[in-house]
Amino acid sequence: MKKAVILGERQAGLVDVPDPRPVKDWVVVKVHVTPMCTEYKMFVAGHRTDYLGHEAAGEVVEVAQPGRVQVGDRVVVMPFWPCGECALCVAGDYIHCQNAHDVEAFTGSPEGKATYAQYLVKPDWILPKIPDDVSYELASLAVCGLGPSFGAFDAMGVDAFDTVLITGLGAVGLGAVVNAKFRGAFVIGVESISYRIDRAKMLGADIVIDARDEDALAQVMDLTDGLGVDAALDCAGVVAAQRFCIDTARRKGQVTFVGECSEELPIRVSPDMIRKGLTIRGSWHYNLSLYPKIMQVIQESPVIDKLISHVFPMSEVQQAFELSASHQCAKIILKPWE
Ligand SMILES: [Zn+2]
Ligand SMILES: [Zn+2]
Repeated sequence: MKKAVILGERQAGLVDVPDPRPVKDWVVVKVHVTPMCTEYKMFVAGHRTDYLGHEAAGEVVEVAQPGRVQVGDRVVVMPFWPCGECALCVAGDYIHCQNAHDVEAFTGSPEGKATYAQYLVKPDWILPKIPDDVSYELASLAVCGLGPSFGAFDAMGVDAFDTVLITGLGAVGLGAVVNAKFRGAFVIGVESISYRIDRAKMLGADIVIDARDEDALAQVMDLTDGLGVDAALDCAGVVAAQRFCIDTARRKGQVTFVGECSEELPIRVSPDMIRKGLTIRGSWHYNLSLYPKIMQVIQESPVIDKLISHVFPMSEVQQAFELSASHQCAKIILKPWE
């Protein structure tokens, strides 16, 4: 099969490798679409890797034993290779599994991990089926396109009574706009890249504030009668944006972080949390039991197709990476068979 790899600084291409094989309850999926996520950071940094991608939708083509899926099933491919047996996995929070499998040890082959590839292997229980009326392209948004913010809004109980602030309107933040509008909330976005600002408005964001505005905090307070927002979601993964979420959340409000960040965020416990009554949490993905609801967003949102801005054949992975690194895009999708 063919798969995409990073060959050097701003250099990507395809290589031929052996096809993965099914083992026990791990099945082979033919990858029809694989959304691009944060892999462009490795492309820019020249981080050579032959394992790219963690999001996909495709078709089951080979199984080793009877199980939860059959050859021909159209499925969304969830990330990682969780154990399936620990308390977190059983509860559907497999993303936090501490006993995740070593794929090479389990299958005897280094191939099958990447989603930027024509085939992959996956435990059958994290391959939820795609409804007949949903395309592979839109179904693939059930991973990082809509997933992180869906989990966050579910945890915060966001609904039509809420004003929601979303910082960072890359693909995850734009997915958050889709989810928040689907729930009927009033949405304030914060972003500085004009392409993303325009796209957020196309997706229904009520107001988008330029993150560079010195009075950005005052603008949010003006929009909320001086109270602050009910729920703030950081998708930027930078300390200034995280701080902005804490500062703009109302008393007894909620803040959730989904943007990955390794810098320290200073929090003053008394004014930020105790006196304000703020709830602050982190959210990575969503509980597997929520999959039917996320699929309902995909089936019923009137703007969902606008979350995908570009589709590339995987043979043009170099151009796709260049675009991804430019940030002049929403979700980019690769097609491994083209
Ligand atoms: Zn587990
Ligand atoms: Zn992702």
